[in-house]
Amino acid sequence: MVIVLKRDCTAEQLQEVKRAMERGGVKVMVSQGSEVTILGAEGNASGLNQQALAQMPGVERVVPVSEPYKKANRKYHPDDTVVDIGRGVQVGGRKLAVIAGPCSVESQEQIVGIAESVQAAGAAAMRGGAYKPRTSPYSFQGMGLEGLRLLSEARQATGLPIVTELMSADQLPIFEETVDVIQIGARNMQNFDLLKKVGKVNKPILLKRGLANTIEEWLMSAEYIMAGGNDRVILCERGIRTFETYTRNTLDLSSVLAVKRLSHLPVVVDPSHACGRSWMVERMAMAAVAAGADGLIIEVHNDPKNALCDGAQSITPAEFEALMGKLAPLARCVGREL
Ligand code: PEP
Ligand code: MN
Repeated sequence: MVIVLKRDCTAEQLQEVKRAMERGGVKVMVSQGSEVTILGAEGNASGLNQQALAQMPGVERVVPVSEPYKKANRKYHPDDTVVDIGRGVQVGGRKLAVIAGPCSVESQEQIVGIAESVQAAGAAAMRGGAYKPRTSPYSFQGMGLEGLRLLSEARQATGLPIVTELMSADQLPIFEETVDVIQIGARNMQNFDLLKKVGKVNKPILLKRGLANTIEEWLMSAEYIMAGGNDRVILCERGIRTFETYTRNTLDLSSVLAVKRLSHLPVVVDPSHACGRSWMVERMAMAAVAAGADGLIIEVHNDPKNALCDGAQSITPAEFEALMGKLAPLARCVGREL
């Protein structure tokens, strides 16, 4: 952290600020220029109260120079993190992890059938919501407990690990028992209480980027989970809100590059929620792999027209198979495999 002093800052005020910084546990370097004087904090600045310092007499502004996230920061963990999600599947290694399945679990035949077809096409894990965050309270809210039970059946049939969204901490015990990866949805990315709770569980967390959140806010949410002791975090870019309305969201593929540089955590891309249009999914999935994503999470439905949720963005099992065929050579081009 660097503190820029006002031009008329007195020697006493400078000393006051310096002492306040030292009380926060850092050594202070004073650089007195002809135009500006700055105080630099050397050491761990996490004990400094930025807002209090900014309000002290003589202070013009406080400039943070290092990122506020530590555990998620590549600076302190240069190697890529590979997250083991069980059943022999890893996210973040050389092999791309493709997670596929319907938006929501709807029935036994639907979820088992889709799980079997995506597995045959090479998916590494399956997705399916049992608790759904819907904009309208009158829309299908998910099958709840019965949905979790059907997901377990699909896992039994295929051996694929299950990724499913947790909406409330009340469901945490049953999730710990039945799911392989806990998804924190875009709408809950800054539900700090929920983040703290999943920071305490022994399950990998798929953390979606919020609808209107910056990359730094997203990484701070990962930090919440990691600060609790859970370092198995997988980031998921799923599009952000912009002024554009043609697509459901705007897929921010540059965030994949940014996050891979800033953090050691693996990142997967969800082209389905990003675009909201099934015909865009294939190309955007390919673009995500080209951009360096560690995997994909894709909505696949056996009957998109009659899906209870997100049919317009769901591809069919046949389209998923075709996509996987196209991803394989592309993965090799970027030094990965499928
Ligand atoms: C989902 O995965 O079905 C979902 C609701 O995603 P998001 O939180 O990204 O909107
Ligand atoms: Mn969905």
